[in-house]
Amino acid sequence: MSQQPTSNAANTAGVVSTNFIRNLIEADLAAGKHAARKWSGRPGPGPQQLAGTLDPARIRTRFPPEPNGYLHFGHAKSICLNFGLAQEYAGRCHLRFDDTNPEKEEQEYVDSIIDSVRWLGFSWDGPLADASAASETNLYYASDYFAWMIEFAEYLISSGHAYVDSQSADEMRASRGTLTNAGCDSPFRARSVAENMDLFKRMQQGEFPDGAHVLRARIDMAAANINLRDPAIYRIRHASHHNTGDRWCVYPMYTYAHPIEDALENISHSICTLEFADQRPFYDWLLERLAEGGLLQRPLPQQIEFSRLNLSYIVLSKRKLIQLVEERHVAGWDDPRLPTLVGARRRGYPAEGFRLFAERVGVSRSDSLIDYSLLEDSMREVLNASAERRVAVLDPLKLIIDNYPAGDSEDCFAPKHPLKPEAGTRAIPFARELWIEREDFMAEPSKGYHRLYPGNMARLRYAYVVRCTGFDRDDSGAVVAVHCDYLADSKSGSAGADSYKVKGNLHWLSVADACLAEVRLYDRLFAVPSPGARREGDPEGSERDFRADLNPDSMRVIRAWVEPALRNVEPEQCFQFERHGYFVADRVDSRVGAPVFNRTVTLRDSWSARPGQRK
Ligand code: ATP
Ligand code: MG
Repeated sequence: MSQQPTSNAANTAGVVSTNFIRNLIEADLAAGKHAARKWSGRPGPGPQQLAGTLDPARIRTRFPPEPNGYLHFGHAKSICLNFGLAQEYAGRCHLRFDDTNPEKEEQEYVDSIIDSVRWLGFSWDGPLADASAASETNLYYASDYFAWMIEFAEYLISSGHAYVDSQSADEMRASRGTLTNAGCDSPFRARSVAENMDLFKRMQQGEFPDGAHVLRARIDMAAANINLRDPAIYRIRHASHHNTGDRWCVYPMYTYAHPIEDALENISHSICTLEFADQRPFYDWLLERLAEGGLLQRPLPQQIEFSRLNLSYIVLSKRKLIQLVEERHVAGWDDPRLPTLVGARRRGYPAEGFRLFAERVGVSRSDSLIDYSLLEDSMREVLNASAERRVAVLDPLKLIIDNYPAGDSEDCFAPKHPLKPEAGTRAIPFARELWIEREDFMAEPSKGYHRLYPGNMARLRYAYVVRCTGFDRDDSGAVVAVHCDYLADSKSGSAGADSYKVKGNLHWLSVADACLAEVRLYDRLFAVPSPGARREGDPEGSERDFRADLNPDSMRVIRAWVEPALRNVEPEQCFQFERHGYFVADRVDSRVGAPVFNRTVTLRDSWSARPGQRK
């Protein structure tokens, strides 16, 4: 992928790709802000970052998923941003599992996330910054830092910056205040350091039930920012954790754990989505206190927020995705219609298409809804350059060339890729009986129709010009075969080819040679741009059920004819089926001899033309 910083000018898709994060990084690098930062790879046990040197010209970012679900297209934006910036500035990006919540996390998700980030083309391994032979493996689990987080919490208690609160959850909520009213102090706020320390130790030893006490930062119950009104930092949870088992019965709150994870890993730029902007003052407060106490070195990581990706025609909330899977609206997490990365891979969306898309949508701090066609255009663009061409007849109608000798056949040659002559050609057998698309013939042509109809001529691509002489109907009146004569001196590539001027140019396959394939015609999962959004006429303030907006035509499975060579297609091979779109051999179900293709995307966007579809 490109290592070049790209400009922030409006790109071809018309979306302004702001690069305020790049500007910030460049300013930090120019100022030598991270020159003092030390690093020697994986942090070991101990309450401070390890010694070692990080080249001052380098940055560290991280992608910190919680392993409680499969990655979706929104995560892809964050992955491309974080890993992409690290690549661009020759820094490092860490993959860190933010697994501080014992209840919802599972190994299955960890494995799938690792797989998806690799599939997107990124790596967390590499040589040490100091160019020694040793290598860094920047794959981390936040739960590996639990001992440090406890130690830091005890430091906060001993320095008067934290206390154990024994109010009930309801009491705590009531005393927190509101956006307009200050909160009030807990009756336990003035506990002595010794009492707080004793209680916190006993919390760790499992002496109290869930919810009996929480450890809170002591900041300011009257702070304008509610997040600074003595936020909870540790809670009691008697639960098994996927990584640490039953070792702990207290678990850190996300807002406490996250800044510490960043600092321990020497992250320079901690990039997150906008909803964390209100947490930034606590992020900074916490790291400042720990640095004051000598527990962390400066410079401290800086949190930078950008707006999350919202895409039309799809939902990107984990809760809704889980619902779609569990209620079997889709076939599973890797259903090609789901906006998960495992689904995208099965759909045939190329990883490079996501990187291109991420660059095009750019980063900004304002919320917007990105049109799904922008994602599809990125995929088309990558596939147009990479996918070899093949022929498939999806809705077959028989074409009989009456003046072509029965039993004869000949090879016609088609370029594998029109933009890459060096890729060579492929042979497609031509014979008396062919399959063409049903829509390429009309018994009674409409105005402007240039393909086959009685008396008209059209070219069979890479082969001959044919003149339609008639057609057969069955008892119900349906057209079952079209008859024509071919013009023997019109073969593509021959001297006579240019003497025929015809407007229709059809694809075809020989009936005797074509290979049968299952083809899954996927389309958008939802039929409206904002699934679940209120529509005109709905009561004020009501929300529709997003499931009511599912597109009933999001998948159609057909039997189709494909070029004979596709009988041996390998899973995940991508092709353009000429005149139809891009297709991929299904990585789960396709077999040699029995190919299964998924439609990745059509050649052109048909959605923007549909009435009432644009917001
Ligand atoms: P969801 O909101 O779907 O539950 P999440 O934010 O809880 O997702 P995490 O595993 O915590 O999922 O996210 C990992 C990283 O991905 C975070 O840094 C988060 O900000 C980022 N991320 C999640 N959703 C999006 C999105 N739609 N656009 C950009 N980044 C996102
Ligand atoms: Mg999250």
